[in-house]
Amino acid sequence: MYTQETAHLDLLYGMGKLTGLVTGDSDIETFLDKTVHLVATHLNAHVCSIYLFEEEENLLILKSTQGLNPDAVDAIRMAPGEGLVGQCFLRQAIIREGNASQSPDFKYFDNAGEEPFNSFLCIPIQRGMERIGVLVVQHRDLNHFTREDERTLKTAVTQVAGALGSARLLIELDLKRTGRSRTSLPAFVRAQVAMGKPTSGKSRILGQNRKSALYGPARPHKPYTKADFKQAIDTTIQELKSLQDAFAQRLPESATLIFTAHFMILKDKNFTGQMTDLMDQGVPPLAAVKKVARKYIALFSASPHAYMQEKTVDVEDLTLRILSNFPGRSDEDDRVKGRIVIAQELYPSDMLRLAASNVKGIVLAAGGAASHVTILSRSLGISLIITEDTRLLKLPEETPLYLDTQQKVIYIKPSQESLFFLQFQNPETPQDDTPPLAEETRSTDGHRITLLANVNLLSEVEEAHRLKAEGIGLYRTEFPFLIRSAFPSESEQYLIYKKLLQGMDAAPVTIRTLDAGGEKALPYSGISRETNPELGLRSIRFSLRYREIFETQIRAILRAGHGRNQLGIMFPLISSMDEFMDAKTIVEDCIRDLQEEGVLCMESPQIGMMIELPSVLGTLDEFARIADFFSIGTNDLTQYLLGADRANRLVADHYIPHHPAVNRAIHAIAQAGNQAKIPVSVCGEMAHDPDYIPFLLGVGINTLSVDPQFLTAVQNSISEISMAQARAYAETMLAQTRVADTTRVLATRPGSPPHHQGD
Ligand code: PEP
Ligand code: MG
Repeated sequence: MYTQETAHLDLLYGMGKLTGLVTGDSDIETFLDKTVHLVATHLNAHVCSIYLFEEEENLLILKSTQGLNPDAVDAIRMAPGEGLVGQCFLRQAIIREGNASQSPDFKYFDNAGEEPFNSFLCIPIQRGMERIGVLVVQHRDLNHFTREDERTLKTAVTQVAGALGSARLLIELDLKRTGRSRTSLPAFVRAQVAMGKPTSGKSRILGQNRKSALYGPARPHKPYTKADFKQAIDTTIQELKSLQDAFAQRLPESATLIFTAHFMILKDKNFTGQMTDLMDQGVPPLAAVKKVARKYIALFSASPHAYMQEKTVDVEDLTLRILSNFPGRSDEDDRVKGRIVIAQELYPSDMLRLAASNVKGIVLAAGGAASHVTILSRSLGISLIITEDTRLLKLPEETPLYLDTQQKVIYIKPSQESLFFLQFQNPETPQDDTPPLAEETRSTDGHRITLLANVNLLSEVEEAHRLKAEGIGLYRTEFPFLIRSAFPSESEQYLIYKKLLQGMDAAPVTIRTLDAGGEKALPYSGISRETNPELGLRSIRFSLRYREIFETQIRAILRAGHGRNQLGIMFPLISSMDEFMDAKTIVEDCIRDLQEEGVLCMESPQIGMMIELPSVLGTLDEFARIADFFSIGTNDLTQYLLGADRANRLVADHYIPHHPAVNRAIHAIAQAGNQAKIPVSVCGEMAHDPDYIPFLLGVGINTLSVDPQFLTAVQNSISEISMAQARAYAETMLAQTRVADTTRVLATRPGSPPHHQGD
């Protein structure tokens, strides 16, 4: 039976999903129309309308309606305080009338062209201090809307207030653009990925012109000599050295790695030698540099091996640097200072150079593979937006921009008022002011939970340590592999792992072996593009196929672990006992080899596995006997259990972390681990989500590993719930077999804000 309660929950669930639309491909009108449609349907209302507030005109304007005359959209306008709608907005208070026309505030708008509606319920839409507008439902019957309707609608509106606020601003900007300006620039561009703090600045396009210095026709320039060439090479060496030094602290794992390839090419006598030979034959210096570089690039790109092809990037990058260092050529670093840089493609070394030049933000306008750019920008604290909209590459230089990294929108030439408004909405918050965690993480009834940190970059170790995380539950080793154009050597890796372990003193650390492939493809790995990379040669499969690479990594980890009491080594994406035993045997062989070679190493690491594939769920007890610990990778486990790509927006609706299959899998894993008395942790995104923490605790998970930024919030969440509550809640959750039911139960989780519990 479709009860009022079910309708309310469906409404809340539907609203949650709608917010995705505003940052997705849909336009604002569609988002507003879908919202009014959803509300009208679930509350069985004859009318649902959204009015948004236009600040400049000080008017509430009807922006979307179901039930009123569609021509009334944009036509019905009222001042705050005018009629019931205006009163609701002015007082920022809910108005529910069972017989609206009798209210002294009632106002009839005849352009709505409808008969009077007796029941009236109006909810103010606000976000923090920002007054966005109102949402109204109406019904012909008297006293149609209940107090329950009122509460549900209030919660539903809170859910979409952020998105409605953005919609209001976008409409305002669009009006300004079409009404007051003739420029063909878009007012805003939506993005796919955004990180860092919102920021504003003027644009600086990087890229096209830059590469033309190498590939384009020669531009007129002063005649250069061989001495100028030598000076350009010397300056380049100095620059590379100082960049390397500048980032040695901030990005230890990449400072050396990124520039190693460049130094190697520079030291190759053939490379610079051929250039000077050409100059001796009378070729002008710039032409000689370009000619030799292009020859190298052609050779590398003709190679059948992907790792050789990838070297073209290094040669291009280095050559552009040499060319820009001829005396009198533009110093790009100065021109990007304080700017928002827009580029189609960025090399890792570009990222470091931009960070050193204090850019305000980066817009990558092409989408595409950008894992190194995202990881680097996060670590360097640079705001970044990635969009597929290449119109940005055609923006005039010095165009004012605002990067709203919260809503994933780039505003182009925002007006002073809009900018003021955006900055007011997203005040800059000082960094590094989070106080350390309380020594222990406990539930209200004293149950102890171990709180560990996930780390991608060495620079995050410092934060994890400062916040007093109890250890590192997941160190993703991918970055040093992603950042460069060849596999890092054993000694390079050793230095990285050593630094990681030193950074956490004696606290426990678990290092995950290479999880390459899938979305983290290594272009130089020699593996051509796979049709289904997520189901392909990724992760431990890759490591077991290329044993030398795997052994190099294991040896580096073991050597770095020498002298410690504890070191965890964890294999990702294990699909069978055979695979786990294979990988474990390699670790044991490496220990034996190192001992025989007389090399100091950790001789008794704990060897555990990530649980990410459904194929291991049937043999959990057996796995618990051979693995020292389990760590649940809920990101992948959910993806593979539900067959929904975790990064594909089109199937985001199908990626449901509280799906009964996921719930029961996590329960089974916790049970198997606890019975065998091995530690079981969760290190996927679920571990920091307050919606899921009570369930995880309730099924017996005692260790959570989360990104450092979430540590404090997770500790707070845990301190608000009791184990008794969590267990009872998990039991109810596990009894459900339908997603609709687990969604309903989710809204009653312990520690949820009162409105989630339908008060
Ligand atoms: C996971 O899959 O949940 C996980 C932690 O691994 P990653 O996100 O690196 O795939
Ligand atoms: Mg994973």
